[in-house]
Amino acid sequence: MALDRAGVPLARVERPVRAPKRGHILIRVAACGICRTDLHVIDGDLKHPKPHVIPGHEIIGRVVALGAGVRGFKIGDRVGVPWLGATCGHCPYCRSDRENLCDSPGFTGYTIDGGYAQYATADAAYTFPISSEYSDAEAAPLMCAGLIGYRSWKLVRYAHRLGIYGFGAAAHIVAQLAVFHGQDVHAFTRKGDKAAQKLARNLGAVWAGSSEEMPPKLLDGAIIFAPVGPLVPLALAALAKGGTLVLGGIHMTKIPAMPYALLWGERVVRSVANLTRQDAIDFLEIAPRIPIRPHVTTFPLSEANAAIERLRAGKITGAAVLIPPA
Ligand SMILES: [Zn+2]
Ligand SMILES: [Zn+2]
Repeated sequence: MALDRAGVPLARVERPVRAPKRGHILIRVAACGICRTDLHVIDGDLKHPKPHVIPGHEIIGRVVALGAGVRGFKIGDRVGVPWLGATCGHCPYCRSDRENLCDSPGFTGYTIDGGYAQYATADAAYTFPISSEYSDAEAAPLMCAGLIGYRSWKLVRYAHRLGIYGFGAAAHIVAQLAVFHGQDVHAFTRKGDKAAQKLARNLGAVWAGSSEEMPPKLLDGAIIFAPVGPLVPLALAALAKGGTLVLGGIHMTKIPAMPYALLWGERVVRSVANLTRQDAIDFLEIAPRIPIRPHVTTFPLSEANAAIERLRAGKITGAAVLIPPA
């Protein structure tokens, strides 16, 4: 399923399966999650995608061919492919353990063809083994919702009372991580989204309500996963002095003007961009030990457009995952 141009549904296309390049592997895709970022690629919020790109950066599949020079993988291995698909290795960010900020990166499903397909190729150096703890569909959301969620969560690991705004795929994974670490999770959803609030409570959240509501006590830290700028002053109003507010999405509508008093008291607002391979190694090691259990709704790959519209409409509880034909 490929993107011909921004703003129109994905088109079903047939392309030849090519042998993997040097250092790359060919993967038979078993499942690919739908991430909010895919909507930003499809809608044109993220500029200059690879022409006719195949979206999808939560790929789970099995290795079917190895390019020259690939080590550490063999035919049949189950692997996961995340958003970070390539880095330059020599820019100031790559040289200071911040490859997530690389000046010339490649991103799966955006500047590199992704997993809304029966086959995908990936650089073996940006591909990870997947624990047998998970089914293919369950593992898919770990690859972005999980990884970006984990990177965001690390910044508010200290918080006793943690707020999570936008209770979708990433949030329902972070909630499990936070509850496991003894944090009191407060889940903020769209007004009236009883399904998401119920899921949050089932996962151990101590409080669930709408984003317009104030929590019973001020939060020590918060993460916003929804791409909604007006949530920033709302979340700051619920944040105690010295707290950090993490913006976990790649795109957000405009943040409205707000009084400085909301930020005063050493409150911090910061974004989280992409992931490093070390984030993937760390999170994929932690997730099965908890174990984090993603809640997934699966759709056949041929129904990608309908699934995307359901996610856009807020009608997916947990994560949506596409399954290509066997
Ligand atoms: Zn770089
Ligand atoms: Zn993503």
